[in-house]
Amino acid sequence: LVGVGTELLLGQIANTNAQYISQELADAGVDVYFHVVVGDNLERVASTIATALDRSEVVVVTGGLGPTPDDLTREGVAAALGVALRRDDHLVGVIKRIFEGLGRVMPAENLKQADLPEGATPLEPEGTAPGLVLERDGKLLFALPGVPWEMKAMLGKFVLPALRDRAGESTLVTRQVLVMGLGESMTHEKIADIVAEQTNPTVAFLAGRGQVRVRITAKAETEREALELIHPVEQRIRERLGEAAVPGGRTTIAQALGDALRERGASAAVAESLTGGLIGAALTETDGASDFFLGSLVTYATAAKRDVAGIDEDVLDRNGPVSERAAGALAEAAAAHFGADMGLSATGVAGPTEQDGMPVGTVFVGAAYGGRTEVRHVRAYGDRDHIRQFAVTSTLDLGRRLLHRGP
Ligand code: ATP
Ligand code: MG
Repeated sequence: LVGVGTELLLGQIANTNAQYISQELADAGVDVYFHVVVGDNLERVASTIATALDRSEVVVVTGGLGPTPDDLTREGVAAALGVALRRDDHLVGVIKRIFEGLGRVMPAENLKQADLPEGATPLEPEGTAPGLVLERDGKLLFALPGVPWEMKAMLGKFVLPALRDRAGESTLVTRQVLVMGLGESMTHEKIADIVAEQTNPTVAFLAGRGQVRVRITAKAETEREALELIHPVEQRIRERLGEAAVPGGRTTIAQALGDALRERGASAAVAESLTGGLIGAALTETDGASDFFLGSLVTYATAAKRDVAGIDEDVLDRNGPVSERAAGALAEAAAAHFGADMGLSATGVAGPTEQDGMPVGTVFVGAAYGGRTEVRHVRAYGDRDHIRQFAVTSTLDLGRRLLHRGP
């Protein structure tokens, strides 16, 4: 994979395109050997593409397909292959129509986007930048726009189908088991023997932000055969991990809780402090959240916990806003305020300095459902961002567990 763009080298943006494409290619059964990033410089773009074609069977370039002079991917591909650029009349028409459709005048420089290295086939634009594909000595080179949504659409329409054909009979299938509240090393300890004895499927760990994912990947001729290989291993892993293994194939705890709420026809509401709205954001990340999510009160200040959430002044005074009692009261207040079946809450010290003698990372999360209120004291670690994410996943997980235990 070749990322083109000086902003990538300067660290102004992260190479999320490479991450996304790698994941998709793994699913398609394609081994990825190199990620390379090169700036907007014709010679270096050309030599990077030449090197990539030399050592890989398929090269996917992203970025540098725009209309401005620093967009050099077309020129770079042509130079790498020693061919000329030709203006493609069909593409000229396509680009002109895109601008007409948007009701905008096409700047003359956009015509540059209709240039193609000799031998290349254009890929229909999603935005305004066309992509391209060409074959050389049995190798494939794709160039896709840098804009992530354009890249993703083109990857799905053109690149993955072409590579699946090439990969032939083998397909990689992955299932993930989301693990909450155990941590990576404890999770590993519990299933180390299963991991060690596996070759197909293979078992790997992905950890971060308070959740661990156990990834089970099988290679087989068909998706069904791969799933048949995965199934017994997944079963054994889930049995070992018990309640920490989140049921279903979801990869985030927010989705898993959403599913569980939807299944029961239950609604949820939040009152959150240190997370400042992140719990609401996590619950609304996937579409269909309106099926179960009613709203979130962001009660950051102590006065807001009292005046907005309606927490008893006494409770706050005696226990402090970061306390088991406050978390429980906030969860109940959230449910009452919105008329929800389940109330969730988080209050804690995100840092960087301690608060009322409580160390950074002290977090209390609460959940109220079916007449029961549960609070968990979580010791989060890391920087402010990490602590807040930890609070989010811990809150959602407590809600999930309470829901599964039933009213
Ligand atoms: P455009 O036609 O919009 O100019 P382009 O193909 O020329 O697209 P670039 O100019 O390289 O692409 O990048 C456009 C934008 O796409 C960048 O500003 C950045 O926001 C995003 N982008 C580019 N490359 C990447 C990447 N590797 N990972 C994530 N985002 C990227
Ligand atoms: Mg550009």
